[in-house]
Amino acid sequence: MARPLYRDVAVVLRTYKLGEADRIVVLLTEHHGKVRAVAKGIRKTTSKFGARLEPMSHVRLLLAEGRELDVISQAECVDPLAPLVVDLDHLTNGISVLEAVDQLALEREPAPHLYRMLVGVLRTIAQRSGPLVVPAFFWKVLAAEGIRPELDHCVRCGEQAGLVAFDLDQGGVLCRACRSGAPISDAALEAMRMILGGRLHDALAIPASSVTHEVAGHATRAMEHHIERRLRTVSMFERH
Ligand SMILES: [Zn+2]
Repeated sequence: MARPLYRDVAVVLRTYKLGEADRIVVLLTEHHGKVRAVAKGIRKTTSKFGARLEPMSHVRLLLAEGRELDVISQAECVDPLAPLVVDLDHLTNGISVLEAVDQLALEREPAPHLYRMLVGVLRTIAQRSGPLVVPAFFWKVLAAEGIRPELDHCVRCGEQAGLVAFDLDQGGVLCRACRSGAPISDAALEAMRMILGGRLHDALAIPASSVTHEVAGHATRAMEHHIERRLRTVSMFERH
């Protein structure tokens, strides 16, 4: 019995071994959300897939629908994001992005916007390294999910000067009198305004410093909180 086939483009998020010669490939597809699929015989030296299904690969696929797992029938390279692999910085950035997307994306739930953002950031990483590439991606993804912190005035009293703290649970920045959450420097606040205010290019040009480190810390914490909340919500729905 022939199984129904479908085509899609995807980024490989991760892979793991299955049996003697196969691998399960976890993909973020453009139209089918996160998909787990088997690549049969991929661990044999004669495999028709070659190295096209490594993490970060951008591939055009023909898949056969399976009862539990789909099966990859064909895989063609869309564009090489290969420079990633030769540079440790690029690799680390790429892996951080893949991990976050793997946790954010839901199986079989189309997320074309997330797919496009992922391809975009991997292209950026392949071309240029930079301390704010990944933090900027995190903030952009969070903004797309509706989490857009207030950065211009204190979320409690409206004060616009002397903003010293950042508390995402409160919705953004706070003044000295109202402060809660983590301290934030003027320079880090300005970098976040660049990222979320349409000046991404300027933000990506900021060299590594305590400021970029600070922005990265805020971005990572925000992403972790969001993923935790999301996982809790999903498991709540799954119980019903
Ligand atoms: Zn205030």
